[in-house]
Amino acid sequence: QREVGYATADAIGQIIEDNATGAVVPGYIDLEQYRAEGGYSLYGACLKGERTPEELIDMLSDAGLRGLGGAGFPAGKKWQIVRSFDGPRLMTVNGDEGEPGTFKDRYYLERDPHRTLEGALIAAWAVEAERIYIYMRDEYQGVLEILRREVEALTEAGLCDLCPIEIRRGAGAYICGEESAMIESIEGKRGLPRHRPPYIAEVGLFGRPTLNHNVETLHWIRTIAEKGPGWFADQGKEGHKGLRSFSVSGRVAEPGVKIVPAGTSVDELIEACGGMAEGHEFRAFLPGGASGGIFPASMGDLPLDFGTFEPHGGFVGSHAVVILSDKDDLKKAALNLLRFFKHESCGQCTPCRAGTEKMVAMLEADNWDDGLLADLEQVMRDASICGLGQAASNPVRSVLKIMQKEAGR
Ligand code: SF4
Repeated sequence: QREVGYATADAIGQIIEDNATGAVVPGYIDLEQYRAEGGYSLYGACLKGERTPEELIDMLSDAGLRGLGGAGFPAGKKWQIVRSFDGPRLMTVNGDEGEPGTFKDRYYLERDPHRTLEGALIAAWAVEAERIYIYMRDEYQGVLEILRREVEALTEAGLCDLCPIEIRRGAGAYICGEESAMIESIEGKRGLPRHRPPYIAEVGLFGRPTLNHNVETLHWIRTIAEKGPGWFADQGKEGHKGLRSFSVSGRVAEPGVKIVPAGTSVDELIEACGGMAEGHEFRAFLPGGASGGIFPASMGDLPLDFGTFEPHGGFVGSHAVVILSDKDDLKKAALNLLRFFKHESCGQCTPCRAGTEKMVAMLEADNWDDGLLADLEQVMRDASICGLGQAASNPVRSVLKIMQKEAGR
């Protein structure tokens, strides 16, 4: 057994109590171990001028790496856009992971944090960002402790000389996962989403051009460089490129993070989870956390990837899949999600603040009046500032469709 972090290799991902700080820290690959296995040689090659930013942008584009926080924006293109605006520039890493049902970023940071940290340093180098701010979910105490230790170790090793890394803690607001609200929060203000344009690539943190990436997007950079963009792209299937990390929860036998080809369907994911939990029959699923809609089991063969659920009024977002069974009440599931949105609405725009409240009131009264709900939805979609208000009605609309289909309408 070799020493890894504060644990042993066999203990990666297993919970280890850390008595020094009181935080519960799992075993993970620390800086020494990561470097012993070739870690930071890609970053070193970048600093020595052996790799160019253009080369890496082409590599990410050929690999088909997309933003895995939910938006799916091509990573290479994002670097190009941020570079096109005059410096000084900054970088943010979004580790807020507040989408219900999503836990893949935690999975990666609790096991191999330096893969994300090296990816961040490389991305910052490519866009010439002067500083990296990691915005981390405060509920992830173990991850925060790991990051504190490892960023300190990185700094002592001189690997942050060119670009210091700072850690910022979120305070549990769902809306702070939205990139412009996250930036407000890092600036020390209330986390309210900004109007766009301008986008943060042009006017971001402290008014500077800002590159923002999700934890998992950065995690793949070293692997793509080592195995080649073709290798990563070929992992997908049916025209989809790459690998996807699904956070699967609900009525399956073995829930958890499943790393599978892009383009995998829900039916296949359930298989990867050892089938349905005993005594449960597959009834419906959420393809993308709280706002991605609720779909019937009959759509379980649709590939789960960016763009595949949009024509049906949903999306996969951060790839949080929740499986519901014949024991679950879909109307109650939709109401539960709407209550969440009502609670998490930042309240700065009326269509979202009042719309979520009215929708909850209707569903609590079991009033599923299609016309009234459609009116409310339209206003929320058209006039809300950010995605929360625009997509909050997705679960209601999709459950309404299932109910109408089952009633033969
Ligand atoms: Fe805030 Fe909702 Fe408006 Fe987004 S849509 S800015 S969460 S009130």
